[in-house]
Amino acid sequence: MKSRYTAFCEGNIDYLIATLHPNKRQENDRQELTKTINNTTWLGLTIVDINQGKKNDKIGYVEFMAVFKTTEPQQLHERSRFFKVDGKWFYVDGNILPDLILKSSDNCWCGSGKKYKKCHGN
Ligand SMILES: [Zn+2]
Repeated sequence: MKSRYTAFCEGNIDYLIATLHPNKRQENDRQELTKTINNTTWLGLTIVDINQGKKNDKIGYVEFMAVFKTTEPQQLHERSRFFKVDGKWFYVDGNILPDLILKSSDNCWCGSGKKYKKCHGN
């Protein structure tokens, strides 16, 4: 999961395709990923929760919140599903979740340096 985030930051499309589950690959993946990467600046990744995904599991779920910017900072809060095939983990798909709510006194997720309650939690 973290390595896929890094690959998004670095524009490593080959890695993103290689770690996508073979059944999920589409002919236009490369174009779509290029478009996303060119239009997006990634600002941070927080792993919220991990379910299964251990050594003896064949499936794993990672809930994460990534902050990205096209024009304004936004959250990508997603629960991703991974399958293990021949000992390697592949991204299958993900459910987009509502924006993560922070504690009022936490620093805002957008990186403004303000408290959440004075910024996006307002
Ligand atoms: Zn904010």
